[in-house]
Amino acid sequence: MNESSTWTERSRRSIALGMGLLGLLVVLACSEGGEGHSTGEAQPGRRVASAAPGRVLVIGVDGASLRFTKQLMDRGRLPVLTKMMQQGASGVSRPQGPLLSPRIWTSVATGKLPRNHGIEGWVRVGDDGTPYLYSSRDRRARALWNIAGAAGMRVGVVNWLMTHPPEVVNGVIVSDHAAEGMEGDKLDMASQFARNMKGVTGQAQLGEAADVAYVAPASFEERVAAARNAAPLTEIENPFADREVWPDGGLNDFFRRVQANDEFAAGVALEIEAQERPDLMLVYLPGIDRLSHFLWVSVEDQSIIPEEKRWPQHVIDTQSKALTTYYEYVDALIGRLTESRGPDDLVIVMSDHSFETDVSGSHPRGVHDSAAARDGILIVKGRGVPQGRRDLVFRMIDMAPTLLSWLGLAPARDMDGRVAHWMQVDQPEAVASYDDIPIEYLGESSPEVDSRIIENLKELGYVE
Ligand SMILES: [Zn+2]
Repeated sequence: MNESSTWTERSRRSIALGMGLLGLLVVLACSEGGEGHSTGEAQPGRRVASAAPGRVLVIGVDGASLRFTKQLMDRGRLPVLTKMMQQGASGVSRPQGPLLSPRIWTSVATGKLPRNHGIEGWVRVGDDGTPYLYSSRDRRARALWNIAGAAGMRVGVVNWLMTHPPEVVNGVIVSDHAAEGMEGDKLDMASQFARNMKGVTGQAQLGEAADVAYVAPASFEERVAAARNAAPLTEIENPFADREVWPDGGLNDFFRRVQANDEFAAGVALEIEAQERPDLMLVYLPGIDRLSHFLWVSVEDQSIIPEEKRWPQHVIDTQSKALTTYYEYVDALIGRLTESRGPDDLVIVMSDHSFETDVSGSHPRGVHDSAAARDGILIVKGRGVPQGRRDLVFRMIDMAPTLLSWLGLAPARDMDGRVAHWMQVDQPEAVASYDDIPIEYLGESSPEVDSRIIENLKELGYVE
C-alpha cells in the first residue's frame, strides 16, 4: 500500500467533510468581528473563567521502564527528565492489569476502568466473529478533551491511542492512525491478538474507522503535513540510521518507522503548541515500547537468561546501544515539547508500564505481562506539585479527575479515580457525570451536536 497517496487522498476527503457546523461557527464568529485565533479559527466564545493560571501537558511514553530510566538518569544520560525531576517530583504511575496499552491510556483520558470506558484492548469481536481494531467510537466515556473542550478550553491531542476516527474538539486532534504506516502496524498487532481468541477468524479490520481523515479540524492538515517533512527535532542521531548495522528490510525498517513516528508526533505537538497554545495537551510517544519488545533483553541483566538462550555479546552490545540512544532521543524530544512551559504550568511525563524479560520461549523476549512490569515512570513538574517528593503513586484512573481539578473543572462522580491526594489543588465539587456531552466524529454531523452548537450561536447572538 502506498502510504503517501493514501494520505493525500484522505486529506482531500477530510477537507470536504470537515466543514460542518463548526465551520459555520467560525465563519459567523469572524463575520461578527469575533476575536480570531492565530490559525484563523475563532474562539467559540464560551470560554469559562478558569481558576488555572497555567496549562497542562501530558506526555505518554509507552513502555518506558522505571528501572532502566532510573539507571540512565544515574549515568547522566537523560538530562531533560533529570532536570524535570529535580524541579518537580517523581514516583510511579500505576495501571490495573492486564497491561494492554489501549486500556491504560484510555483510563488516563477518562478516569474510568476499562469495563466502564469500553476499550478493553486492541481487538473487539464483531457479532459475526470478525475482529476489529478498537476505535474512538467504542469509547463510551467522555475523555479529557471532550470535557475541557465543552468548558471552553482549547485542547490538543496527538497520537493518543484509540482516537481514530478523530472527534471534533475545541482545538486539534491528530489521531493515532496519522503517522505513516501506523494503521497497518496496528492492524497487524490486532490480528496477532485475534489469532489467540476463540471463535475469531480472519485479519483485524478497521470497520467504521476506515477511510476517515486523521486530523480534526481539516484546516490543520497543512500543519500536520509540514511536520512530516520538518528538519530533525533533536541532535540525537537516529540509532537505526547506519545501514551497515541495520540493513534495509524487515524489522530494521520497522525500527526506523517507529522512530519516524515519534518524531512526527512530537513535531505535530509543537505545531499545535505554536498555533493554539492549548490549555490541555496530550501527546503519546509509543516508540520505546515498540522497540523494547525486540531490544529490551539487551539491557537486561544477562544472568537471568539461561546461557544457551543468550544472544552473542556483539548483538547484545549493538541492541543495547540502540535502545539506550533511543531513550536519550525521547528525552530530547521531551525537552522540545516542554521548552515553552513555565512554572505555573503542569507537565506530566509518564509510562503505562515497564518491561521484563520472558525466558520461557526459545529466545528471550521483552514483554510486559506480570506485576513485575506493572508500574510505569512518573515525573511531574509545575504548580501544585510537591517538589522534592520521590514516592508519588499516581493511579491511571486518578489522572483525569486530578487534571480537571487542576484546571479548575469539576471531577465526575462516575469516574473510578479520585483527585490525587498529593496534588496541591482546590478540588471543585464533583458533578454526577460528563457522559452526556455529545460527541461528533470527523466526517459525520450528529443532530445532537448541531443543536448544541446552534444553542451556543443563539447565546452569542449570532442566530435568532
Ligand atoms: Zn508493548
